[in-house]
Amino acid sequence: MCDGLTGLCNFRSLERFKAALKSGAPQPIGILRIDLDRFKLVNDTFGHAAGDRVLEVTAERLRAAMPDGSRCFRTGGDEFVMVCPGACDDASLMPLARSLTASLTRDVQFDAVSIHFGASIGLAVGTVPATEFDEILSHADIALYEVKKRGRGGIGLFTQEMHDQLTERRALADEFQSALERDEIRAVFQPQFDAATGAVIGAEALVRWHHPTRGILSPGRFLEVAEALDLLVPIDRFVMAHALGVAQRLADEGTPLPRLSLNVSFRRLVDPSLTSDLNFYWTDRRTPLSIELVETIFFDDGMDEVTAHNIDRLREMGVRIEMDDFGSGHASITGLLAIRPDVVKIDRSLVSPITEDDERRRLLATVLDIARVLDIEVVAEGVETLEQAAMLRRMGCDVLQGFALAPPMSDVELTAFMAEQARIGQIGTARPCDAPVRRRTA
Ligand code: C2E
Ligand code: MG
Ligand code: MG
Repeated sequence: MCDGLTGLCNFRSLERFKAALKSGAPQPIGILRIDLDRFKLVNDTFGHAAGDRVLEVTAERLRAAMPDGSRCFRTGGDEFVMVCPGACDDASLMPLARSLTASLTRDVQFDAVSIHFGASIGLAVGTVPATEFDEILSHADIALYEVKKRGRGGIGLFTQEMHDQLTERRALADEFQSALERDEIRAVFQPQFDAATGAVIGAEALVRWHHPTRGILSPGRFLEVAEALDLLVPIDRFVMAHALGVAQRLADEGTPLPRLSLNVSFRRLVDPSLTSDLNFYWTDRRTPLSIELVETIFFDDGMDEVTAHNIDRLREMGVRIEMDDFGSGHASITGLLAIRPDVVKIDRSLVSPITEDDERRRLLATVLDIARVLDIEVVAEGVETLEQAAMLRRMGCDVLQGFALAPPMSDVELTAFMAEQARIGQIGTARPCDAPVRRRTA
């Protein structure tokens, strides 16, 4: 079955083609997953007629480049799949992929305007039916995704490394289901220090997976997997319960944490049980609580009502709101103004260059100025050297957190650490929470 606009085979005929491959003799195939870059922009800028023209021309160019015996399908708006039977390895497909990128990125003329766009290609090979067609296709997808992540406009090969990562992800996904039940999820705590006095003013709880064979895994290894399994909410709930239990023990021992910070995922923020869980677990109010939200929640174009409402509810409960990872990608001044977090945590990528790079230092100074104007406390995270710590102190950062001062530690280590801080008189007080005064202004 053909696609009316381009004349290429459509998604349905890809299904039939797959079925035929499955029942046929074993053969190697190569799959190219082709995706146009900036196609949405073409539609938005020049209109749909221009977008259609680009798709027609793309199809013509694909047809012209197709090797004998290969098939090309349009599988979505600006997505195409080329299947090349007989291709045993990626090297044999590279010349084709290169010539495709060259031809697809040539401007298209439409109504006297020259339309500029690009193309990204993901490439994978395998032998059917030993390997499922869909698996090879998903490998090409992963390769394409990697290209897009690097900034589009290139060719990506599905590599052994990607294969290993995929295998690990699948294994972790299987094992993660039972990790919570087997009590393998724990929190570690990284102390935070008053930049001026050096006294400890709080700790951030960070999740760890005590894997039975792989050792202690950091969130970078499993949070994506957990998200795909829809398990972020239970993780965050578990860390909250565990961390607040530890905080209560510390308070009972006479060394309460001046503040405990919890990382909260977007899913958890919009989870209706967040506030009821807080009421249940945060009964001992001797430990003030902060919630860290990744900056992507604070989008430029404002946040939806549910998110904003939940943030207000947290404030009303006396929880401080912190904007995490500021400067790592999507942070915006508009976001700061709209939400007015109590604390902004400057990401390590902004902190680490400051001792070597004047420009970066000035950038950080500007962020500090803005925070000062808005009366927002500034925590610098990822402080790795004492030189950075000294400079951040001079520049007026309020709080420092990083390996140079203290690494993340277990609850047992934290207990000993707090006892020692008490002995030397270095337990400070965190800035008080002024909720619900500081509410959303936008
Ligand atoms: P984050 O909230 O920005 O946490 C700081 C991360 O930086 C932690 O990594 C910490 O171990 C690391 N770090 C601290 N000091 C230094 C330093 O001096 N140098 C370097 N290179 N790194 C430093 P970790 O524990 O791997 O956590 C990574 C991210 O995972 C966290 O970033 C946070 O976004 C997320 N995360 C951690 N725990 C939780 C949790 O309980 N729930 C949710 N939803 N996310 C969590
Ligand atoms: Mg954090
Ligand atoms: Mg951070």
